Parts: sequence; C-alpha cells; structure tokens
Amino acid sequence: MARSASLQKRIRLEIRGVVQGVGFRPYVHRLAQRHQLSGWVLNDGRGVIIEIQGDQTTEFINTLGVQPPPLARIDHIAMNQIPLQQEQGFAIRISQSGAVATSIPPDNSVCPDCLSELFDPGSRYYRYPFLNCTHCGPRYTITRRLPYDRSNTTMAGFTMCPSCAAEYHDPDNRRFHAQPTACPVCGPRLSIPVKEILQRIQVGEVLAIKGLGGFHLVCDATNEPAVQRLRQRKQREEKPFAVMVANLASAAELVTLDEASSRLLDSPQRPIVLLPKKHSETLAPSIAPGLQWLGLLLPYTPLHYLLFYEAAGRPAGTAWLDRSQALALVMTSANPGGEPLVIDNAEAQQRLGGIADTIVDHGRDILIRCDDSVMRVTGGSPGFIRRARSHVPHAIKLAHEIPPTLALGGHLKNTVCITRGDEAFVSQHIGDMDNTATLRFFEETIEHLLKLLDVKPERVAHDLHPDFHSTRHAQSLGIPAYAVQHHHAHLAAVAAEHHITDVAVGLALDGFGLGEDHSPWGGELMLYDGTHFRRLGHLQQLKQPGGDVAAREPWRMAAAFLHQIGRGDEIARRFKAHPAARQLHQLLEKNLNTPEVSSCGRLFDTACGLLGIKPKASFEGQAPMLLEGLVTKPEVVPDGWCIEDGQLDLTRLLTQLIDCQAAHGANLFHGTLVEALCEWSAQVARRQGTKIVLLNGGCFLNHVLASGVVKGLRNRGLSPYLPQQTPPNDGGISLGQAWIAGHRDR
Ligand code: ZN
Ligand code: ZN
Ligand code: FE
Repeated sequence: MARSASLQKRIRLEIRGVVQGVGFRPYVHRLAQRHQLSGWVLNDGRGVIIEIQGDQTTEFINTLGVQPPPLARIDHIAMNQIPLQQEQGFAIRISQSGAVATSIPPDNSVCPDCLSELFDPGSRYYRYPFLNCTHCGPRYTITRRLPYDRSNTTMAGFTMCPSCAAEYHDPDNRRFHAQPTACPVCGPRLSIPVKEILQRIQVGEVLAIKGLGGFHLVCDATNEPAVQRLRQRKQREEKPFAVMVANLASAAELVTLDEASSRLLDSPQRPIVLLPKKHSETLAPSIAPGLQWLGLLLPYTPLHYLLFYEAAGRPAGTAWLDRSQALALVMTSANPGGEPLVIDNAEAQQRLGGIADTIVDHGRDILIRCDDSVMRVTGGSPGFIRRARSHVPHAIKLAHEIPPTLALGGHLKNTVCITRGDEAFVSQHIGDMDNTATLRFFEETIEHLLKLLDVKPERVAHDLHPDFHSTRHAQSLGIPAYAVQHHHAHLAAVAAEHHITDVAVGLALDGFGLGEDHSPWGGELMLYDGTHFRRLGHLQQLKQPGGDVAAREPWRMAAAFLHQIGRGDEIARRFKAHPAARQLHQLLEKNLNTPEVSSCGRLFDTACGLLGIKPKASFEGQAPMLLEGLVTKPEVVPDGWCIEDGQLDLTRLLTQLIDCQAAHGANLFHGTLVEALCEWSAQVARRQGTKIVLLNGGCFLNHVLASGVVKGLRNRGLSPYLPQQTPPNDGGISLGQAWIAGHRDR
C-alpha cells in the first residue's frame, strides 16, 4: 500500500570526520535500505554527503552514529530538510572532486574478517600476505592526495582481476571501494615465500622485511648470536630492541600484563608497548640489556601473521591465534646510522645490504615512511613515547579554530604539525635533525601532509633556537614566522589537547631547550597564559663541563657537582677509571667551556654519575632509565631540597648520594625529587590562584616521576595534566608551537 505522502521527508546530511576509505558509503547504503529510504550518498572533498527521502528519516539519523564501520569517526553532521524529489531506490554516486577537507585514516592492522580468510584454505585469499578490506590495511603510507581513490594510491599500478573488481563494485561486500584491495592473481607479491623467510629466521639470519611504513630488521629473538649479529651490524650497542610475539598469551610469559596494558597491546593500532619484564630465560639476553622494560608488539600485517602460522605448522581454523607460541621476533626499524627508515626496494639493497643476510620486499610502494608507534600505560591510561603508525594522521581536536598554521618542531625527535580549523595534525616521528636524509624526510613529510590535508599555511611556527634547521626552514617559507620558546611549547602542547584556555602553572622538565635569556633551560616552572608565559622558577643551575659530551657521560656531571660543592679535589680519585678526569678538573677550575644549565635531564645524569650508574651511556637517556629501574620504594630525604627565589635546589639530596649504594640512592633521588617538585609547583599554583598544573617534557617519560608528581599534586588538591595524545618528549612540541602561533597577533 502506498504510504501517505505527508509523512515523507527529504533530508540532506553533510558528514565530516574520518568517513572516506572506511566503508562508510556501503554502511549508509545498508542503513537506507533497512529504513526503506530513497536517495543517494557520495564522497566529496569535504567528507560524505547524503540525501535521504522516506518516512523513516528520523530513524536513519538516530542510528547513523550507533555502529559506524570500525575505522570511521564522525566529527560533525550538518542537516537540512529539502524539497521532496521524484526518485527510486538508493544509490552510491561517484566521487565529486572539490575542496579537500576530510581526513584519511591511518594504516591499520589486519581485521578479524580478513584474518579468517587468510587462514581459510577455501578462500581465494588463503595465505595471501597483502589481503585487506575497508576495515583494515594501508592508508596513510600509500596515499598521495585526496580524494581517497585507488588512482591516488600506490596501488594504482595494479589492475584488479575480475574477482577483485566484482567485490570492489559490490556495495554489500566488505571490499566495496577498498582502494588497496588485491589478491594472489592481481596484487603485489613477496620476493621470497613465507616458508623460506621463516626458515631463514630459524637458522639465525638477520632479515630486512618490508612492512607497512618501512622495512624492519628481523631475527629470532631467542637466538643470542643472531641478536648479537644484528647489534654489531646495526652498530647499536645496547639500545633495546622491540620483540613481536604471537598474542597476549605469549606476551604474558615475558612481561607482567595488567588490564590496561593488555588492551593497549592487543588494540587494533598495535603499538610497541613498554612492559615490565618478567624473569625469563626465553629471550636472548642482549634484547634489552639491564633494563626493567621490554617493548613488545603483536602481529599487525598479514605477513606477520603468516610467519606465526607457518611456525605453528599451519593449524586449522583460528583458535590457535590465542594459544601461546614459541616464535618471538626482533622487529626493529631499519634505520641505519640514525637515518630515517628505509622504504624503497632499491634503497634497501643499498643501505641494508651490509646489515641483512636476506632482503624481503614486494611491489606495493610505500609513499611516505612511518615508524611503529611506541606507548606505555602510566597511571592506568596509555601515553605515547613515539607517535607514528596507526595514529597519524588522526586529528587532535582543538578548543577552537585557529588560522592554518604549520609548526616545525625542534631538533631532536622532530615532528611537524599542521592545523586546519579546529584540528591539529601532528606528523609521524621524523627523528633527530642531524643528517641530510632526515632533513629530506622532514621536507617530504611536510609536503605529504599539506597535500593530504589541502592546507595553505598562513603562519609558520619554529623554535627560538636560531641555528636549528627547522628554524631556518621556517624563515625561508615566505609567510609570517613565529618563534616559540621550547618549554612554552611543551606546556602549550598539553594545554592544546586538554582544551585548557585558562591561566595555569606548568612544569617543563627535559634535557635542553634554549631560554629567552639565550641560556640552556630544562627544568622550568612557568606561568602559562596561552600566547604568553613567565618563568617563575627553575631547577638549580648545574655546570655542564664540555657541553654536549656531558649529556652522554654522567660521570662528568657528577664531577662538576663535586667541584661545585667545593670537593673538586676528590674528582681524580673518585673518577680514576676515566682518563679525562684530571683534565676535567682543570676545566672546571678555570671555568672553561662549562655552561650552566637548569636542565632536569642533567640533574638525573648527575645523580647517575654520583651513584656510579652507567658513567658513559651508549644512548640518550640510558643512565636515567637504569636508575629508574632500580627504584623499589621511593623515599623522601626531608631536608633534601630548598626553594629560594623560585629556584629549586637539591644540593643536599645530591650530596647524600655521593657515598650511597646505588639502589638506595635511586629510591632517595626519585622520592625526594617528586616531593620537592610537588611542593614547589603547589606553592606557586596557590600564589597564582590556579589549580591547573601542566606537566610536560621528556623527563616525564620516567614512570616513577610522572606517576609520583601526578599523585602528589592531586593529594594537594590540584589538577595535574600530562600529555596523552602526543609524547612528553620533543615529539610533542610542534603541537604546542602551532597552538601558540595560531593565537599570536603580529
Ligand atoms: Zn580487513
Ligand atoms: Zn584480484
Ligand atoms: Fe624538550
């Protein structure tokens, strides 16, 4: 029976968010059919446009946001009632090109539906390492520009076979408009069969395997000589390697898992998660020497899964996926010599040939490199150490719109940030800007993101440091450039993601950032007021003899401290293991090349040096990590610090460490520092009439410090904020720079 025309309505909806390339249109199509609506849906440059007509339009709208496809994210819906039209059925229309203002999703781990096909001998995708669908697979790293169509991806060169084309065009299929879809007939192939890859791993070879965002160096994580070989060839002495295990059951044998960290490890984003190591004989000792933490990750590409499948003897069904497995693989970024990740097949032969025994590549090109993300759970919530794969280019929502701004970050652990309206897009981890390959990657990343987001920045933000490459690059762009002080940017990054627009106090604790007075800062207590800040206090000034070298050799910081408290004559005796000790003493006596720093990183190094922990570190932050690992129960030295003229002085605590046993010293140092920082910032917050305390800077990667300060401030009735969407280290400052520059008047 014909429905009464009076109940009929026609509604036009415009949807913004992550709605392209995620199966959103077929989802809309199914929903429209369920509610017997006519009309159409299409992707435009700004998101998805829908027109629906019928008498269940309200039901449609109410259910639209209830169960969207797994990778979709609806940020905004605009709705209008429009005149009825003569039409029949519901259609998916072809893309309209126009102004691009939508986002493409990050790269994603293989979904459960694809996994069942991967292990189903009856499926045409059985054991095919490149299967994917609208719910999973590569996106960011293969897409040149929007709209997200196959022709704009690196899959453009693969012509779909009839079976793939049929699925691609069928709105009821999971692969409807799945741009990277491929099968064994028409898609990319591995250069070496999975079975042989596994055999080579099992005999102890080091392999370079092309993954989603670049090559990994891979070897058997239980084979000590293989791990040693990898270390030697990669010239990576002690920096820990991440290990891939099959599932949570396997992980639980190596690390202590709680609910939050299990959820994070098993999440579809599949980050590397730092977890407390269990005593176990399984893994090679040189995976993470001396550290209490182990970085684990679970398989995320079909190829990873196939290696575990092969190792398990190709079991039937998928139940084996949850059973513990013996195979454990070192999976480390193939980035020789601190240069960016290798992504290109020819480049792999050239740069990885001397490291890997075997190179495994394939024909799906990676357009832009993207490392694995690294995360950890602090106080029950996940936080970043490195933000990259599966998180970039997700937008960080800002409290309000700012002019389109490009922020170029700092020098170490660089990222860039681009804003569009009230969204901030922080790039993947780029790295330390100290070699030409990284500088090239920096420029490629900016270009790629600007193209994907279709943004023409009106402003550019950079660090205050005049000699940083990022600063010079900013000044060469020909648009208004804004210098932002490093620690101000750290605090603004936390404020931006938490939508804090009030005045707050903030603690920025890190290794180094140039201060407004041109001296090295790094332990700053600030009044944060959006575009402005005031340095209310800082950590005591420590002498850093010889500059940068002292940042890698904690014994030098300790020697300088002895000199500072008038015990310089003990240097030669206490540090007799170091031939440079006597010379260092003279340097200090003459006050040559010994800048004074307020750095919290150097404070940690001083403590490590005094306690004899790793006098010479083999990578940045190693000594403090080892110190943190010794903490069992933090203890407060009641008179260990004093606060004078806003300065926090810990001389008495440090003096106590001189003849202290290392483990006890670790407890005293952490306990007292946490208490002192809380007292110091609480006093200032009270005086400034705010309850908000922003916490940021690389030192907050220290778990004991971060959770201790948060707890201590809460106990004092204050509201501390740590970054959750960016890492606390310099990987987050581009967000803060953008937020500040976006508000400044010329
Ligand atoms: Zn899938
Ligand atoms: Zn095919
Ligand atoms: Fe910093």
